[in-house]
Amino acid sequence: MRHILSRANRGILRQFAWSQAVLAFDYDGTLAPLVPKPERAAMRESTRRLLSIVAEEYPCIVISGRSQGDVAQRLRGIGVRQVIGNHGLEPWPATSGMRDEVARWLPLLSGQLAGLRGVSIENKAFTLAVHYRRSRSKKAARDAIVTAARALGSVRLLGGEQVVNILPAGAPHKGIALERERARLACDTAIYVGDDETDEDVFALDQPGRLLAIRVGRDRASAAAYYIEDQRCIDDLLRVLIEARQDRGTISHPARGR
Ligand SMILES: [Mg+2]
Repeated sequence: MRHILSRANRGILRQFAWSQAVLAFDYDGTLAPLVPKPERAAMRESTRRLLSIVAEEYPCIVISGRSQGDVAQRLRGIGVRQVIGNHGLEPWPATSGMRDEVARWLPLLSGQLAGLRGVSIENKAFTLAVHYRRSRSKKAARDAIVTAARALGSVRLLGGEQVVNILPAGAPHKGIALERERARLACDTAIYVGDDETDEDVFALDQPGRLLAIRVGRDRASAAAYYIEDQRCIDDLLRVLIEARQDRGTISHPARGR
């Protein structure tokens, strides 16, 4: 993995910034710091201000594991072109069958996990998120959740920050969602920034020259080619992206003012 903000890699960042690029961001742990109570997650004022400018310079989208309505509300006032929720599943045509499937899972899973302290199920309509942040024995909780989830049948499990996400098998993921939005917005390239296991669906697209995959935090197991040090550095990345587009403006009109 290489540091995207290092001097040596500014060239690649510029190359993408000067192309017809869509910028896509995960929310928690990427645009907003991770917090003990996820319902309180919010962007820093500086990030909000920078993202607003970035969204004027580039088509921007946010792809989150939260429900679409939840994350859209946190982005209110920022000109993003699309907000995608539920790890890529929402909005998506023809996923109502998946909604029914999740509705069927909920009572089964609640029954299975009823005796587990500190475990809570968040119903996000298209997926379930089982949180074990407040559990005292996290490993035992996680194991029990995974066992109960597998017993539901055809599921895909995605890990995260003290959460097990349960998705219908074969559901569109973040990578598929990004591809669809890139095409819809008539962009040639994409820059994607994410921090978690669910973002690996994007990183794994592995499209050199077409996708600039940036992970928040260095992790050798990640399929992302680039990283920023930690969540705080998102502001630096946004700043560099703004500068790059504004530079393009000056370079592409060299005769201006003569
Ligand atoms: Mg995240």
